Amino acid sequence: MRWSFIIARITGIQIRIHLSFLLFLGWVGFSNGLESGWRASAGGVVLVLLVFSCILLHELGHAWAARRFGIRTPDITLLPIGGIARLERIPERPQEEIIVALAGPAVTALLALFFGALCGFRLPTMTGDLQGWSDFAAKLFTVNTGLLLFNLLPVFPMDGGRVFRALLALRLSYRRSTHIAAIVGQSLAVLLGLAGVWLPAPMLLLVAVFVFFGAGSEASQVDVREASRGLRVQDAMLTKFTPLPAEAQLADAADLLLHSSQHTFPLADAQGLFVGLLTRNSLIGGLNEAGPLGAALPYARTDLPAVAPTHLLSHACSLMQEFDTPALPVLNAEGGLIGLFTQENLSELLIMESTARSRFFPWIRRRSKQE
Ligand SMILES: [Zn+2]
Repeated sequence: MRWSFIIARITGIQIRIHLSFLLFLGWVGFSNGLESGWRASAGGVVLVLLVFSCILLHELGHAWAARRFGIRTPDITLLPIGGIARLERIPERPQEEIIVALAGPAVTALLALFFGALCGFRLPTMTGDLQGWSDFAAKLFTVNTGLLLFNLLPVFPMDGGRVFRALLALRLSYRRSTHIAAIVGQSLAVLLGLAGVWLPAPMLLLVAVFVFFGAGSEASQVDVREASRGLRVQDAMLTKFTPLPAEAQLADAADLLLHSSQHTFPLADAQGLFVGLLTRNSLIGGLNEAGPLGAALPYARTDLPAVAPTHLLSHACSLMQEFDTPALPVLNAEGGLIGLFTQENLSELLIMESTARSRFFPWIRRRSKQE
C-alpha cells in the first residue's frame, strides 16, 4: 500500500504502518494534551498503541489460519480505521474461508476475555483520564468486545460477511454467493454510513465507505476470475495496435493517444522485440517533465513481465494486479511483440460473457481448447 512503511516482520509477514496512522496518533496526543494536559496525552497515545496491537494480533490470527491452507500473507497494514491483512488469495473452499474469517475474531474474543479478567469485567470510568493498569484493562476489554461484535456483523468483506458468503457458497455458486453477500454488505454499509453521519462518528463513516467500495471491488474480482476461467490470453488480447519504435518521442505517443483508441503504447526495437510500455499516466508525466520532444523510453515501464498467448487469463490478471499496470505485453517465443493484454480487454470480456453467455462463449472456449 502506498504511503506505508515496514515497522516489523513477524513470522515472515511484513507489518506496515500507514502514514495516516501516524497522523492519527499525533492528533490523539495533541487533542488529549490540549484538553486535559500532557499526562492524558501520553495515556491516550499508549491506549491507541495497545488497541492497535490487539488489532494486529487479530490480523495475525487470519494470516496464521490462512497459512494452514497454504496461503501466504505478504503484509499486514495498520490504518486508523483498522488493520488489513493482504492474503495472497482468498480460500475458495467455504469451510476454509470460514476458518480463516473466524480466526481473527477468535483472537479478539480471547483478548476481550483476558482484559476482562484483568479488570474484573467492568466498564471503564468515563472521566477520560486513565489511572493505572486496571483502567487500561477495562478500556481494552470494552474495545475488544466492541470490535468482536462489529466484526461479526454480516457486512462483506468484513469477517462476518465472509462467513456469510461462505455459508451461502455451501449451497449456491461462489459467484452468486459473492454477489448476494456484496449487496447485503453494501446495504448495511449505507446504514452504517448514515449512523456515522447522524451520531456523528467520522471513523464509522470511513469504515462504511471502505466496506462499500471493498464489497464492490471484490465482487467484480470474482466476476473477472469466473469469466476468465479456462480462457487463455489469446482469447482476449488486443492484436490491432500500433507499436512505437524504441527511439520514439513523447509527441508520437501523444499523437496516437489523440487519434486512436489506444491508451498504452508498447515500444519495440527494429527487430520487433519488446523494450518497454508507456502508459497514459507516464506519458502525461513525461510530457510535463521533458516536453513533446523528449524520448519516450525513459518514461516507459521496462520492469513488466511478458505473457505468452497460451498463458491462462487468470495468470495474466494476477500479474497485472501484482505489477499495478493497466496492460501487459504479449510476446511470442522469440520475444516478438504480438499483442497487448489490457484492462479494457477484461471488461469487454465480462460484458460479452454476461450478454451472450450461452451463444458466444462456448465458441471461445472450444477454440481455446483446440490450440
Ligand atoms: Zn478480521
